[in-house]
Amino acid sequence: MAMNYSTAAELHGVTKRYGDVCALRAIDLAIERGKITALLGPNGAGKTTAVRILLGLVSPNSGTATVFGADPRLTSTRARIGAMLQVSKVPETLRVREHIEVFRSYYPTPMPYPAVIAAAGLDGLDKRLFGTLSGGQRQRVLFALALCGNPDLLMLDEPTVGLDVESRRGLWDAIRRLADEGRAVLLTTHYLDEADALAHRVVVIARGEIVAEGTPSEIKSRVVRRRVRCVTALSLDEVRMIAAGASLRRDGAVTEVLTTKAEDLVRALLVRDPTLAGLDVTGGGLEDAFLALTREESDAVAVSSVEYAVTKAVA
Ligand code: ATP
Repeated sequence: MAMNYSTAAELHGVTKRYGDVCALRAIDLAIERGKITALLGPNGAGKTTAVRILLGLVSPNSGTATVFGADPRLTSTRARIGAMLQVSKVPETLRVREHIEVFRSYYPTPMPYPAVIAAAGLDGLDKRLFGTLSGGQRQRVLFALALCGNPDLLMLDEPTVGLDVESRRGLWDAIRRLADEGRAVLLTTHYLDEADALAHRVVVIARGEIVAEGTPSEIKSRVVRRRVRCVTALSLDEVRMIAAGASLRRDGAVTEVLTTKAEDLVRALLVRDPTLAGLDVTGGGLEDAFLALTREESDAVAVSSVEYAVTKAVA
């Protein structure tokens, strides 16, 4: 293994079909060492399929999956991957300690037992039967099992589902520490706030395609649209010139603009129109932005038809 090779895993032109359903369409994805990559998307976007291909559990119809330069289906590759899947189930009648010891025994160079317990925040719980644990505690045991092999690549499929705020933060801290140690982490999530808090890089996936990727702030600046409302003496065309690319409408005396650059727009409006009044800036929620992004096509149609209707009404 070349140590300066920073890519831990990649999908190259991967397409996966299940019958008539195309779960992934010619996806390219690279996961870097020492970094947390979040695969963000709504239900059915193809996130789990991407993870399963990287785990060597399913094969793509076309394209290639590579993990540490090798085929993920090889046992030697799999030994370097730890995974926490949505479907993970373990017997309820074993103790936490027994589960962890069994998993550690599967791997050639397991993570030391105390390190697993500490990383997963399981101190004091290791003598408990799995079946007696709360949902959040079970989730932490599944996380611990993903760590047992001391993995270089950690794949976490919606790891914080069902956790309360405090447990979620605790797990985020643990995941950050693992990446800081140089491990590559791939995380899938529905939550833009989780991707924002945790990931170095976010890949947004919808309908089996990548619709955006970048740092969390790049994604946010691209998608977080705010609604600027004001009463202005400027004509709609003049506002349109200032707010290039934004969608806008006039409702009576009120002009309304949806834009990703609200501050720039407000500054320009104030300079050009000293009589500007009734200024109101709203929105900017991460979840709204995520929905707008993953529904981009239908959104674009909706926005242009509103504009069309407004234009017709004005004409
Ligand atoms: P979720 O957030 O709901 O888990 P996801 O982004 O992980 O969704 P996938 O589980 O990858 O999405 O599913 C992508 C698409 O492929 C969906 O339409 C799903 O129904 C379909 N699919 C996934 N696995 C199979 C399978 N084994 N057989 C048939 N269709 C499947």
